[in-house]
Amino acid sequence: MIFQFKRILQPLILVALIVMQLGCTSKNEKQTEASETQDSCYTLSDFKFVPKIDVHAHINVEGRIMIEQAKAYNFKLMVMAVDVVPEYPPMEEQIRVRIKHHKENPDVFAFTTAFTLEGWDEPDWSDKVIEQLKRDFENGALGIKVWKNIGMGEKDKDGNLIMLDDPKFDPIFRFVKEQNKVVLSHAGEPKNCWLPIDEMTVNNDREYFSENPEYHMYLHPEMPSYEDQINARNNMLEKNKDMTFIAVHLASLEWSVDEIAAFLDRFPNASVDVAERLSHLQVQSIKDRQKVRNFIIKYQDRVLYGTDFQELENTNPSELKEGMLKTWMQDWKYLNTDEMMTAHQVNAEFQGLKLPKSVVDKIYRINAQKIFPNAWEN
Ligand SMILES: [Zn+2]
Repeated sequence: MIFQFKRILQPLILVALIVMQLGCTSKNEKQTEASETQDSCYTLSDFKFVPKIDVHAHINVEGRIMIEQAKAYNFKLMVMAVDVVPEYPPMEEQIRVRIKHHKENPDVFAFTTAFTLEGWDEPDWSDKVIEQLKRDFENGALGIKVWKNIGMGEKDKDGNLIMLDDPKFDPIFRFVKEQNKVVLSHAGEPKNCWLPIDEMTVNNDREYFSENPEYHMYLHPEMPSYEDQINARNNMLEKNKDMTFIAVHLASLEWSVDEIAAFLDRFPNASVDVAERLSHLQVQSIKDRQKVRNFIIKYQDRVLYGTDFQELENTNPSELKEGMLKTWMQDWKYLNTDEMMTAHQVNAEFQGLKLPKSVVDKIYRINAQKIFPNAWEN
């Protein structure tokens, strides 16, 4: 009797196994995501307790609103000096404030320095910059940030725009590399900058370029193209392939995860941060969520969380605190849950990516710790 039962059952089990196998293959990605859901994804309430790093912040004053808010929500900060004229204080003042915060809060506050292009046409410009960077590194700076004023604003004595691949920068990047420090670069602008306002893909770009027409390149056809900016950055990197590099704002390739992937493939020592550009991934999620999710999972060691929060002279404390929390929670929800969401930056609903914990930990902490070892002392 048992023998007969086995004879009937065995082929049935075999058929069932084949059906299951086929099902697994066709629904592979869905099932992986579903199994990640149960045991290995963070929830909204985990946000406050998971240790996190925001690699893209700006604090130009001695006030401590951002630092206190970071402490309250288990964040550490990488605070960048930037050559933003005239909105930011002079470079020496930016560096002074950063050294002070770093000394007072070494567990939360790490910083990078920057340089100005003052005296560019003098033969010893690069030497003077290197002298300054040497001092800043001795005082705790962990890298340098180069900004879009290179490529979009600063000109030499003949009136030519200074581009990032100018050979005058070579000794500076060489020095930073020799010192094992990091170069962060905000190159050009999002591609939207070269489009009319109503053709832009996200509302945050529409707002920014409406308010800052001097940077809205659609209005300035005499200026270098989007491709010129990307090429100058890439030409510079081609000369410095072994340099540790963070291309902030998704490398200004925010409009296409394929483009970001190609950039990361071409430059193996480069990473990207998502600061102020997560909305562009959300826009791509509307069309093909799985593609965006696959991109982050594939490049999980090369993507860093950052926001671009700013604490300036005229910052309203409660607005900053509320704004930080709102953005942090919105970003966390997008990356950790599969909820349908809306955001003021994006004009349609999109679904969260529900990334596994292991990937979220890398984006929010581990990748930054690898790039900046011992940055946040405990
Ligand atoms: Zn920034």
